[in-house]
Amino acid sequence: MTRLEHAAVIGSELALRFGDDEEIYLPLEMLRRACPCAACQGEPDALGRVLRPVQKIGARGYELLRYEAVGGYALQLFWADGHSTGIYTFDYLRRLALLP
Ligand SMILES: [Zn+2]
Repeated sequence: MTRLEHAAVIGSELALRFGDDEEIYLPLEMLRRACPCAACQGEPDALGRVLRPVQKIGARGYELLRYEAVGGYALQLFWADGHSTGIYTFDYLRRLALLP
């Protein structure tokens, strides 16, 4: 599994370097909108349908206060509007970086 070697906020982007030397830069606004937590992305109902909720993003919601490694496979991001339930797996982050 890929290890995260380094993480830093540079301007309005989160820069990540992984153990295989891949470097990615993710705009903070895009990261917040892509927050994978249930409150942001919705949970499937009994029939498996996912209704996407309207994301509540506060005034400082695109400001990243800090991040914490989770179990060696993910980052938990702490946003300045108090939102911090999103656990971004390294895999997910790398896929986000491939989006146009
Ligand atoms: Zn969220």
